[in-house]
Amino acid sequence: MERRDYYEILGVDRSASDEEIKRSYRRLAMQHHPDRNPGDKKAEEKFKEAAEAYEVLRDAEKRKIYDRYGHEGINGTGFRGFSGFDDIFTNFSDIFEDVFGFSGTRARSAVRQGADLRYDLRVSFMDAVKGTSTQIELEKFERCRECAGTGAAAGTQPENCPRCAGRGTVTQSSGFFTISTTCPQCRGAGRVIKNPCKACYGTGKAKVRKTVSLRIPAGVETGSRLRLRGEGEEGDFGGPSGDLYVFIHVEPHEFFERDGHDILCRIPVSITQAALGAAVEVPTVEGKESLKIPKGTQSGRIFRLKGKGVPHLKGLGRGDQVIQVLVKIPTNLSRKQEDLLREFARLSGEISS
Ligand SMILES: [Zn+2]
Ligand SMILES: [Zn+2]
Repeated sequence: MERRDYYEILGVDRSASDEEIKRSYRRLAMQHHPDRNPGDKKAEEKFKEAAEAYEVLRDAEKRKIYDRYGHEGINGTGFRGFSGFDDIFTNFSDIFEDVFGFSGTRARSAVRQGADLRYDLRVSFMDAVKGTSTQIELEKFERCRECAGTGAAAGTQPENCPRCAGRGTVTQSSGFFTISTTCPQCRGAGRVIKNPCKACYGTGKAKVRKTVSLRIPAGVETGSRLRLRGEGEEGDFGGPSGDLYVFIHVEPHEFFERDGHDILCRIPVSITQAALGAAVEVPTVEGKESLKIPKGTQSGRIFRLKGKGVPHLKGLGRGDQVIQVLVKIPTNLSRKQEDLLREFARLSGEISS
């Protein structure tokens, strides 16, 4: 039988780049993969043909020999298609891993770390400044308690897959090829479950509600992320659990505002307090503090209470409370008050009468 040209098989130019060759092989391999075309001999032939062409053209050395001497040259190097199913699978897995999410011969029995989880937590302004302990409730998948994660109903065990004898892969030989594919009966698990567990439908995992205790350190802000090691989902086949990431969202406060480690606020003072000076009470996150307003304070002036801000998350120290004073102009004056203000204006030389 006349052997087809490798470039023609892959449908690429002789000058095709490695990337083009890979892309083209990938398309053909997916199209003709035996799993997708059960019992179709033609597809299987095409699949093997593409795999053989790719095996040669992906290798710069073999490709050079093939370009110069054709099939004869390749035969001369002792290349006879694939030496065994390991080859085709090594080659195969790097093409397919990202497409089908399985990897070669040990598809499902691989030890795998559990997935990380995310939880979004709203925290009050005060709790963010002072820190707090709380509990959160979340849903996650854990090993099913009914079947201890086996997926088999109580009193039964998963059995070795009869199709692949527990290997998870099946091999077929024809001509000089041995093709190994994921076992269609157990989908690579190597085991089959005759009586699935009713609690988890044979998956071995069950959704559970979990309460997790959590300490929120003083000084967190919106965007802070707390990591709880091992509180994510359980790993597969004894793999470690994933982590839980708690994303903090701080709720606004009616009076205080955050600016990094400083806490900002505005307080109103009367014109007499501003003009004559006064001691006013200012709320802080730690309770009320007295603030001295000197004589002649202008509206908008800024005062600082040192160390009354937000604690630093890491290390010592904390920010300040920054207070802006706003002078309130009185409204709804009484007759007497108006008279006194007019008298004040006269003394200031604003009114002559
Ligand atoms: Zn099987
Ligand atoms: Zn179960």
